[in-house]
Amino acid sequence: METFSTIKQMRSASREARRRGLRMGLVPTMGALHAGHLSLVRAAKAQADIVAVSIFVNPTQFGPTEDLAKYPRPFETDRVQLEQEGVDILFAPTVDEMYRPGATTYVTVEGMSDRLCGKSRPGHFRGVTTVVSKMFNIAEPDMAFFGQKDAAQLAIIRRMVHDLDLPVKIMGCPIIREPDGLAMSSRNAYLTPPQRQAALILHHTLREMKSAFNRGERRPAELIDVGKHCFQEEPSARLDYLQVVDPDSLEAVDEIAAPALVAIAGYIGTTRLIDNQMLKP
Ligand code: AMP
Repeated sequence: METFSTIKQMRSASREARRRGLRMGLVPTMGALHAGHLSLVRAAKAQADIVAVSIFVNPTQFGPTEDLAKYPRPFETDRVQLEQEGVDILFAPTVDEMYRPGATTYVTVEGMSDRLCGKSRPGHFRGVTTVVSKMFNIAEPDMAFFGQKDAAQLAIIRRMVHDLDLPVKIMGCPIIREPDGLAMSSRNAYLTPPQRQAALILHHTLREMKSAFNRGERRPAELIDVGKHCFQEEPSARLDYLQVVDPDSLEAVDEIAAPALVAIAGYIGTTRLIDNQMLKP
């Protein structure tokens, strides 16, 4: 595995791969890798000839009071895992390399970026779409792999690629969970053992809503009531949002006649976790 920290190195490796007729798959991450990230790497290995993984804790997607400084950065462990997975290129630029002094240009998907996490984390999706479009320009991948875990992010990136005619195929990959159902997340590392237990409430809430849906309930408002009722059973958790939305536009739906996305975000202590599931009539 080659490790690059400069844009120049990454771009010339990508151009060289293209010259040799190889298709590149890119897996953008913020590191602190877990089995969810590795599932994207494996999907990329299965479909691309050459796999690049980026590790970059992107400051522009963190709000001023968020966890940028304390976000876990176990770089050496990450590097070893990627090496073992047979990744070809690790791209790990510094903040100064990615954002040159005086940079003031952003990419924004308007409307969608203010929904779900975008509402509680103003500017978050603007940071995501900006860094992802930079990654696409630097690595010039044929395809890029994202997790359904961040369903809103995936929908927004698909819209950006469509709207800007970016020459990259976006591949969505399923949510990887712990055996008890907790969606894997780098932020799970913040949880104390009792909080880790309490965090299951997100998964339980989605499960209860799915049961109601399977019993025939198609009204989002009723399903959300079921979910909120369930969520309240965990006193140490605080709900940020629970919504039933169109999976492409992220707009709230008033009846589930087509596949709908149930998205939840909640705080366990100061740790903010998200999860989601699709409901398919
Ligand atoms: P992050 O490092 O949190 O920015 O995530 C990098 C990529 O991994 C994103 O596309 C995420 O959606 C994806 N990802 C994170 N957690 C999971 C998971 N539990 N299952 C599948 N993909 C995930």
